[in-house]
Amino acid sequence: MSDGPTDLPAPREAPDAGPYWQAAREDRLVMQNCYGCGTYRFFPSLLCPECGSEEQVWGPCSGRGTIYSLTTVHRAPSPAFRKIVPYTVALIELEEGPRMMTNIVGEGRNEAAIGDAVEVCFEARGTDAKVPQFKLAGA
Ligand SMILES: [Zn+2]
Repeated sequence: MSDGPTDLPAPREAPDAGPYWQAAREDRLVMQNCYGCGTYRFFPSLLCPECGSEEQVWGPCSGRGTIYSLTTVHRAPSPAFRKIVPYTVALIELEEGPRMMTNIVGEGRNEAAIGDAVEVCFEARGTDAKVPQFKLAGA
């Protein structure tokens, strides 16, 4: 599923998330990292939620995490998703701290469980976008 472009919808890129989407095109996961206290955050925001600092850099993430919560989608939300149901939507807790909503893709995706180790991969969408997704570690 993450080997080539799909006809699934391309992401709508919010202006303040430009570095996130550009890094995804390069198969890298980045998040805002507070220059003041070092906290990573997701989604992007102007101020650090921990210390209020406006100073931040887009820091690299390991791409490793664990499944905090998940559900299996059996009914497609739009026609484009019909060919991939059932699929797993999960809340991933990254090593750096933030949690992000994503899909579990690849081998064993529908047997994934809370606490499983996962690692990021990138799924091509549209003409030049990629979406960070996660697969079971070692799968
Ligand atoms: Zn901070």
